[in-house]
Amino acid sequence: NAPLAEVDPEIAAVLEQELGRQRDYLEMIASENFVPVSVLESVGSVLTNKYAEGYPGRRYYGGCEAVDVAENLAIARVKELFGAQYANVQPHSGATANAAVLAAIAKPGDTILGLELAHGGHLTHGMKLNFSGKLYNAVSYGVDPETFLVDMDVVRAQALEHKPQVIIAGWSAYPRQLDFAAFRAIADEVGATLWVDMAHFAGLVAAGVHPSPVPHAHVVSSTVHKTIGGPRSGFILTNDVDLAKKINSAVFPGQQGGPLMHVIAGKATAFKIAGSPEFADRQRRTLSGAKIVAERLTAPDSKAAGIDVLTGGSDVHLVLVDLRNSELDGKQAEDALHEVGITVNRNAVPFDPRPPMVTSGLRIGTPALATRGFGDAEFTEVADVIALALRPGADLPALRARVAKLTEAFPLYPGL
Ligand code: PLP
Repeated sequence: NAPLAEVDPEIAAVLEQELGRQRDYLEMIASENFVPVSVLESVGSVLTNKYAEGYPGRRYYGGCEAVDVAENLAIARVKELFGAQYANVQPHSGATANAAVLAAIAKPGDTILGLELAHGGHLTHGMKLNFSGKLYNAVSYGVDPETFLVDMDVVRAQALEHKPQVIIAGWSAYPRQLDFAAFRAIADEVGATLWVDMAHFAGLVAAGVHPSPVPHAHVVSSTVHKTIGGPRSGFILTNDVDLAKKINSAVFPGQQGGPLMHVIAGKATAFKIAGSPEFADRQRRTLSGAKIVAERLTAPDSKAAGIDVLTGGSDVHLVLVDLRNSELDGKQAEDALHEVGITVNRNAVPFDPRPPMVTSGLRIGTPALATRGFGDAEFTEVADVIALALRPGADLPALRARVAKLTEAFPLYPGL
């Protein structure tokens, strides 16, 4: 039982290097966050040794007394947090949660209708190389070419034309809120099951700063590691007892074997934290930070440099920067921000004229920095740095120094 540094110095160096990177850069990838040390403890614990196929009280292995407590706590807490009657907390990831949802509510060959991948949808919503596009007949709705918003008349028209068994509401890159009640009305009109994938905005929902899909959807899936800021994993909610049974059997034995009990314990803690006033405050700072970034990137000096923001702003934790009129493409902009110490991902804008490896957009998110402690003053400074870095001829070393001041003022994982 020698320490990692002795057993495997190469991997120990990777851990050290990654901790240094997380500390020294400003993390603005919209899908990332920092788990608290309390969650790291469970995820790096002896629970990783335990097999627990089945569900609490109904396991296929002995010795599950302790891990049953963890899973029951995770279930009870997530139900309470989102006001749902049934929860499955075993999915290893968002994608496996989504595979189980589709297995529970559709048969292979059924038609599923989701947001187009190139317009902000997710791979698991019907992309043709993904299981969802291979097993199901995937059709899509896009955003409006002028407003870049989801137009419910278009969703309805697509639903009436294709008569899908499943309608999917949810996104990986969309800066506004969806109208869940309108989605449900369309689902009811065509006899479809409404599935909301709230992977991105679940933390906002938990904090009450974003409408909840739970009262409207037949089933809701999510990740735990984005706005919620828990360990990398997924969960599924429903208020329908029959659906709950189908979901449980779709997760195990349908999709997975042994659940990751160390991760489930970490989820339980993340759900406990998500019920706290501090968490709600963090989600409010997340939203406010995104609005500040959007304001700075739509200011006249940014617009003069060909920079804009899709839909003109943000109601969530991310901003989609529109570089179609900028000298910098998405790749160059991502690289420029990397040079000043800010990590983001380039992202195709809908109807993007540039190729997918280059793109004309950036996706910039605020959850990780809000977790790091940033408030309006710091987000204003970051927004200024981003706006300046995206201009032609920017003084990148001077901007790197401004970023270093922020990372030093908000130390990450002190003592680790
Ligand atoms: N659903 C949505 C909307 C997502 O954005 C993502 C992740 O990007 C997922 C599901 C998949 O989550 P994971 O990467 O944990 O499989």
